[in-house]
Amino acid sequence: MKIGVHCSIRKGYKGVLYETKKLGCNCLQMFTHSPRIWKFSLPKKQEIEEFKFLRKKFNFSPLVIHVAYLPNPASSNKEIYYKTRDLLLLEFELTKLFSAEYLVMHPGSYSESSSLEEGIRNIVKSIDYCFKYIEDKFGDISFMLLLENVCGNGRKIGRTFEELSKIINLSKYKEHIGLCIDTAHAFSYGYDLRKEKIIVNIIDEIEKYIGIEKLKLIHLNDSKHELGSRIDRHYHIGKGNIGKDGFKLILKYFKKYPLILETPKEVGFDKISPKDKENVNFVKKILNLFS
Ligand SMILES: [Zn+2]
Ligand SMILES: [Zn+2]
Repeated sequence: MKIGVHCSIRKGYKGVLYETKKLGCNCLQMFTHSPRIWKFSLPKKQEIEEFKFLRKKFNFSPLVIHVAYLPNPASSNKEIYYKTRDLLLLEFELTKLFSAEYLVMHPGSYSESSSLEEGIRNIVKSIDYCFKYIEDKFGDISFMLLLENVCGNGRKIGRTFEELSKIINLSKYKEHIGLCIDTAHAFSYGYDLRKEKIIVNIIDEIEKYIGIEKLKLIHLNDSKHELGSRIDRHYHIGKGNIGKDGFKLILKYFKKYPLILETPKEVGFDKISPKDKENVNFVKKILNLFS
């Protein structure tokens, strides 16, 4: 079993590793910088080396890096598109430098004057540019970009696995792109994860359009809002609208994948969340039912 929690880098990169250990986890996810700013300075080489050394010692895998909130590679607005590409380049480069296995990204929103198809073409152009940059600079890529499904409010792209497949299939770097399922997003879009039939349909949909081997990661979150609400509010596992029985079903099918929790912390920024611990233990308890 692989379980981890998205942790903050407020106490430095190594702080994420200590927090992961304290929570009883064995894989992890983080931002490499503040997710709400466009410009940041790259971490020092020594910081990265210390992080890598300690991760190896703790034997945590995979390391998942989440792209910040601001980039929107689907945008047809030139200013946003190029600002996004510059930031994405850094995200790709840091993923490589940290030797992370995965970089997770929400595909973005197409512009009002534009179309879904154009949004998809913009995304592909942007990520292919970043992959080429990494290939030219480092000689190899060595990580996968994972596209995450979204709850589909506004003009967000990636509501269904068929939609995500269009991005993957258009890219020249297809073999380096995979999938991350966020359970809260799937549910708030309208996939009723409380029904076994629907979970099986999701797996069939992925197999049909992309290939199930492309699925690499689960963002395990309950949803505060109801099925089809298209509101993105994560909630504690088993305490939201997906509920305990829903998670039993989800884990029956997805327990072999790394599970990353992005549930509310409900504590000050400087503290380790007791809620994280509760959520991790809750998932472990369900998993024990299956072993
Ligand atoms: Zn997520
Ligand atoms: Zn979300």
